[in-house]
Amino acid sequence: MSADASLDATTLFQFDNSYARELEGLYERWQAERAPAPRLLAFNRHLAEELGADPDALATDEGVAVLVGNTTAEGSEPIALAYSGHQFGNYSPRLGDGRALLLGEIVDPQGVRRDLHLKGSGRTRFARGGDGKAAVGPMLREYVISEAMHALGIPTTRSLAVVATGERIARDTGMLPGAVLARVASSHLRVGSFQYAAATGDVDLVRRLVDHAVARHLPEAADSEIPALELFRHVVARQADLVARWMHVGFIHGVMNTDNTTISGETIDYGPCAFMDRFDTATVFSSIDHGGRYSYGNQPRVLQWNLARLAETLLSLFDPDTERAVAIATEVLQGFGDRYVAAWHAGMRDKLGIAGATPVTAADAVVDAVPELLQTHAIDHTRFFRLLSSALRGDDGPVRALFTDPAAFDAWAATWLALVPADVDQRVAIAAEMDRVNPIYVPRNHLVEAALDAATAGSMEAFDALVDVIRHPFDERPGLEAYAVPAPADQGPYRTFCGT
Ligand code: AMP
Ligand code: MG
Repeated sequence: MSADASLDATTLFQFDNSYARELEGLYERWQAERAPAPRLLAFNRHLAEELGADPDALATDEGVAVLVGNTTAEGSEPIALAYSGHQFGNYSPRLGDGRALLLGEIVDPQGVRRDLHLKGSGRTRFARGGDGKAAVGPMLREYVISEAMHALGIPTTRSLAVVATGERIARDTGMLPGAVLARVASSHLRVGSFQYAAATGDVDLVRRLVDHAVARHLPEAADSEIPALELFRHVVARQADLVARWMHVGFIHGVMNTDNTTISGETIDYGPCAFMDRFDTATVFSSIDHGGRYSYGNQPRVLQWNLARLAETLLSLFDPDTERAVAIATEVLQGFGDRYVAAWHAGMRDKLGIAGATPVTAADAVVDAVPELLQTHAIDHTRFFRLLSSALRGDDGPVRALFTDPAAFDAWAATWLALVPADVDQRVAIAAEMDRVNPIYVPRNHLVEAALDAATAGSMEAFDALVDVIRHPFDERPGLEAYAVPAPADQGPYRTFCGT
């Protein structure tokens, strides 16, 4: 806590609100509901510094009042964003920020522009049946998983803070403590934003949204012949790369609706997401995903489907002739598959330490055999890749021990090792490189759950410890053995819930 009496918490950030300025019609001005007794539960000091804010000032009562929405900082213009979306394939014309607010855009000292957004800050005009609130558990869950993704090097929205509101809210499981998450993102533009704009029938609005998105995410395309097309190509490429990164770490988003697919290529909206332990392409954690639409193995396909929905909103900008516009969109969309496979292969070669192996086709054949190997033998995804490096250091015991049938591993490993230099020193160097891309610590489901349960009951110790672990996912540290292994086998199947 800073005792500086001159501190003015209302001038914490440098705001410049281009969305509010440029996109009238795609938002509603709104104010957060008052939190009766705000208390800072989790705070990302490093991120605050990145944003050019003074972390000590933000952590004071005045700063926390801004982070929970009780005080509107100078320059902030809170708005609820309008967007549509396909949820589980069904189109909802009007979703929008039902319980969230964009406080404004912060331009950090490096000139980087980012959204500061609140989630759980009360009902807005888009709330429909919802209460506008969020519980402590799910907001801390977003905090820890998004920070884990960031530490893993995966594009993601960030979490600046979770503030308990002091209010209790009604959920299926009973009354729970409420919280507000302060989220930072390179923007909150999503496929659903374009769907909403297109559905108004106002082509000029779609064009303004394209210009806004280009200015924020692809400024070099501003003067191109068809900025909408360049933007679309860019989003397709970014999203293909993104989903490949998810697949590399066994991340399952869980609710890949078009309103949760960003234009920036950042992962957004951590609801029922989780990391897969035992490899199974059919893995689904979300309690409401009965059909397995958003299962681990379906993610690339679903993303491509979402991008087709984006294309539909831009057709008239691609070409006035619909047939030609569809042909252009189809060609770009078809490129998604190649881009995804290339990104997946490249990342997998790094994970296996065979980035330099030739021919690349031989390396990719070894890569392609991995999913089936892990699936058939129900191997823990994170452990498999992490333990492989010790095989290059001369001890394949740990990774072989994951297999009840070690001969299956041996058969694959022979093809793998044939691509790795035989030289001992070179192998040790490659092993070190593998350890920089294959995490030892991911937020294990049972540990996340235990930390959130404890936090809900009032103790932040397990949560703080977990955040500390996942911030350094590649560095093995003594004493953290329990964070590196899956849940005991007797724990039933893991379930996550959307009613957050
Ligand atoms: P999500 O599943 O988090 O992407 O949310 C889908 C939509 O439901 C968005 O429009 C949210 O703003 C809205 N929503 C989710 N939970 C609530 C809530 N408790 N109150 C109001 N709106 C909500
Ligand atoms: Mg959402």
